[in-house]
Amino acid sequence: MKEEPILRLCDVSFAYHGGKPALRHVSLDIHAGEKIAVLGPNGAGKSTFFLNINGVLSPTEGTICYKGMKITRKNLNELRKGVGIIFQDADNQMIAPSVREEISFGPMNLKLPKEEVESRVDNAVGFMNLKGFEDRPPHYLSGGEKKRVSIADIIAMDPDVFLFDEPTASLDPANAEQLELVLDLLSRRKKTLLISTHDVDFAYRWADRVIVFKDGRVRADGTPLAVFSQQELCKEANLKSPALFQVVRLLEQKNLLKEKGRTPKTLTELEALLR
Ligand code: ADP
Repeated sequence: MKEEPILRLCDVSFAYHGGKPALRHVSLDIHAGEKIAVLGPNGAGKSTFFLNINGVLSPTEGTICYKGMKITRKNLNELRKGVGIIFQDADNQMIAPSVREEISFGPMNLKLPKEEVESRVDNAVGFMNLKGFEDRPPHYLSGGEKKRVSIADIIAMDPDVFLFDEPTASLDPANAEQLELVLDLLSRRKKTLLISTHDVDFAYRWADRVIVFKDGRVRADGTPLAVFSQQELCKEANLKSPALFQVVRLLEQKNLLKEKGRTPKTLTELEALLR
């Protein structure tokens, strides 16, 4: 029997202040431990989707279930505790005078005992490589450091599902690489990860599922290979083809790949196939 999804959306629509719908009839299941890249042009509804599944916004129509529980106004806090969001602009999240207080804020709000708060903060500081930064004011940190603090904020809340809204948009290559290591660690801890991004190369190598939004609707939902193979769809959703995917297709056409059908996701995997 298939495991119950951690999140289930049934025919979810959402409109801001009675305007035109930003999400239209979205139905999908998300299973624990999935690594999902959420793609689509600006204004497609990706952020609105995230804000609905973390309970900041509530659907205008349709239902969201979290761990089998239909979300209503009464149990909305369960969804907010279970699904954490890391906003694109880390500054939006920083409110405390020091990194330590900043990270403590979430677990203190959960009304956890003092020792538990301390231990969660220590764990998040260690996890995000922030030792030595604890007493510094978050506002004077670099962009990459702020991003690490904003992720530590959410790690200290220990949600099941992490939503990252365009996390690499403001990061230099070294910080973006470090972020991928953090994603791997969270994944090893069986966390469910959804990342909205315009970086198709990242989506192709990292995700095991890609969901494409267009005009508030789910336009495609499948493995990176299945989604990026649909050229018409990619054109329509302004998605470029991932570089490695293009190289592999070219090598296949020229019969230069020994094992057809095995699609490498990284340069190392490609090298192994060419050997
Ligand atoms: P994406 O994250 O894919 O760029 P959004 O979810 O931000 O897309 O936006 C989807 C639609 O909702 C767009 O038409 C956008 O203009 C509209 N929208 C987003 N936020 C608001 C808001 N706070 N008030 C009114 N309309 C909004």
